[in-house]
Amino acid sequence: MVPDIFRRDFTPTPYWWEAYTPTAGDLVDVPKAARVAIVGGGYAGLSTALELAKHGIDAVVLEAGELGFGASTRNGGAVSGGVNIGKSFTGRSADVEPERAERLLSDASDAFGLIDRLIEEEKIDCFWEKPGRFVGAWTRKHFDAQARRLAVLNSAAQSGACMVPRERQREEIASDYYFGGMVVGRSAKLHPALYYKGLLEACRWRSVPVCASAPVTGIRRSGAGWHVETGRGAVSAGDVVIATNGYTGGLTPALRRRVVPVASHIIATEELPQDLARSLVPKARTLSDTKRVLCYYRMSPDGRRMVFGGRARFTQVDPTVSAPILYRYMTDRFPQLRGVKITHAWTGNVAFTLDALPHMGQRDGLHYCLGCNGSGVAMMTYLGWQTARKIARVANYACSYDTEEFPDHPLYSGKPWFLPVVGGYYRLRDNLDRLLA
Ligand SMILES: Cc1cc2nc3c(=O)[nH]c(=O)nc-3n(C[C@H](O)[C@H](O)[C@H](O)COP(=O)(O)OP(=O)(O)OC[C@H]3O[C@@H](n4cnc5c(N)ncnc54)[C@H](O)[C@@H]3O)c2cc1C
Repeated sequence: MVPDIFRRDFTPTPYWWEAYTPTAGDLVDVPKAARVAIVGGGYAGLSTALELAKHGIDAVVLEAGELGFGASTRNGGAVSGGVNIGKSFTGRSADVEPERAERLLSDASDAFGLIDRLIEEEKIDCFWEKPGRFVGAWTRKHFDAQARRLAVLNSAAQSGACMVPRERQREEIASDYYFGGMVVGRSAKLHPALYYKGLLEACRWRSVPVCASAPVTGIRRSGAGWHVETGRGAVSAGDVVIATNGYTGGLTPALRRRVVPVASHIIATEELPQDLARSLVPKARTLSDTKRVLCYYRMSPDGRRMVFGGRARFTQVDPTVSAPILYRYMTDRFPQLRGVKITHAWTGNVAFTLDALPHMGQRDGLHYCLGCNGSGVAMMTYLGWQTARKIARVANYACSYDTEEFPDHPLYSGKPWFLPVVGGYYRLRDNLDRLLA
């Protein structure tokens, strides 16, 4: 442990857990039967259950750990209405026709509309604000590439995006780290654990059984439906939805081969002096950048702390390992934060796919919504909602993320042995891009 960056009361748990800590609560019995069994109790699982309940369809949510154990209470809370259609995890360009790209963007924009509506309708108190996002360009070429995407973002996703040249960058961020960047007006932020808690309460209010400590250990066909075995008894269900994202395991080997679990890490600083805190992000937007090893950051809902995340390592490492790396990334951008102590550091898994796109659909009869590719607060809520509407047969159009194609790779069996190499290569490429710029 590097003592000088950690405050005495440092804890290796998410800052967000001070408002809602994942808990098993009063254990809800696993019912013997349900019309739909949902595996995974994050945003995707809860959103599926909630929408099914609204259509009078009873579902059970089966969560292996405590409620909110996964990425849904650990993320940065930046909410976008876009999706990155471009380079996949393998470095290949995702083969997306322009027309499909527009539909993907348009549905991503709907995802933003859905979360906005849901928070209002369910009265979820989660510091939901829509100040927009600034995406810093790491090189001049990246800035030009951002500018070229502007038109399609604004037409297909109604992003309200505009470019900010380097000379005006300080209107967005108290740093000269970037070559200007793009503002995406239609972006928001929230408190991720309170959003989670709100979804959970909305499910409970509609009497959806949300069962903690109920790992699903086996799923097999039984008559016209499914027999779902959990650590706390079995459920028979007509349909099963897999919503395990970055925690997808051996239960569904065919799906595990299609998602790559990648760790993401975050630190939170101690409360900063008010003037300093106010100066860092003048318009209170969320921020990210165009680097391959990107960082994403924002001020805490009370505006007092910097919450700074990134892929300090691509694998799970102890927060005391990732925190000094993130601290360096943070002070590279904000030298004025040198000397500030950190109080929290944590980590969680996101799920990348081989074509860089989120997916929903059916494989071997099981429904799934998987593959947030690092950005899933709105998207995984949306895919759960779409999956529920598909099961309830009320969807009036086919979601563009619902396709037969969900690529795998002959050299990948679900164990991402290559991640440290990919991480090192991406860091090298970032450095070269800047050197050669
Ligand atoms: C550090 C970090 C920062 C992020 N920042 C952002 C951000 O700023 N903006 C953004 O949009 N997205 C962000 N994300 C991504 C976002 O958090 C996820 O996309 C989203 O939470 C995924 O929700 P989910 O319900 O699909 O999966 P999760 O919330 O991960 O839930 C999956 C659940 O499945 C359970 N499970 C797995 N196997 C089984 C089984 N066999 N039986 C029962 N349960 C099982 C797991 O225990 C887990 O709780 C971030 C993620 C991380 C980790």
